Amino acid sequence: MIIVLVGPPGSGKGTQAKVMTQRLEIPHLSTGDMLRAAKAAGTLEPEYVTAMDTGGLVPDHKVIGLIDERTQRADCKSGFLLDGFPRTVPQAEGLERMLAARNQAVDAVIQLDVHRDKLEERLVNPRTDKRTGQIYHLIYNPPPSGAELEHRDDDRPEAVAKRLDAYESMTAALLPFYEERGLLRRIDGVGNPEEITKRVFAALPERK
Ligand code: ADP
Repeated sequence: MIIVLVGPPGSGKGTQAKVMTQRLEIPHLSTGDMLRAAKAAGTLEPEYVTAMDTGGLVPDHKVIGLIDERTQRADCKSGFLLDGFPRTVPQAEGLERMLAARNQAVDAVIQLDVHRDKLEERLVNPRTDKRTGQIYHLIYNPPPSGAELEHRDDDRPEAVAKRLDAYESMTAALLPFYEERGLLRRIDGVGNPEEITKRVFAALPERK
């Protein structure tokens, strides 16, 4: 089964990706992880390192190339879960062409849907205890008194708003692309993780 998983920061995408790949026994392919690994190994072209470091996107042909190569490995034979890819319509088209050439196609696009207010609540309230490294959440998992709390720059309201805006502009064209093809499955991403997993599996096509 070939699945594309889409969800904003704070939607619980990582949690669902983990359960889905375990249960379906397919690899989890994250272009973000792949690019970070290439960067750490020193094999990523310097101009792409700069793009990543400045909040830009790596060019479509580069990420399509990474996915093309990775999905030809043996562990992808019964499918894979794509996370962070495609991010643009040309990437979605590239993926479609690449799979068609192998007589394959995306089986489902799972979109974890969480209202923006809820995402902001989830994302701006984490705090780290400087002394222990433990992460708390002011609402869901309040820190003990006496903790020395630190607020990550990335979790400040302006930064969170920026991250969510970026997600919204990315999906504005991508989701309609998959909707037109009848592949988009919008999953309510509010609830406990097990419940959401049930909704995800109910939305997947019959296993092949
Ligand atoms: P985020 O940090 O937003 O969660 P990722 O971990 O998915 O994003 O990716 C980290 C960085 O790698 C992105 O900011 C971008 O520069 C690059 N990247 C990842 N996936 C893609 C993609 N599909 N197309 C272009 N660039 C990508």
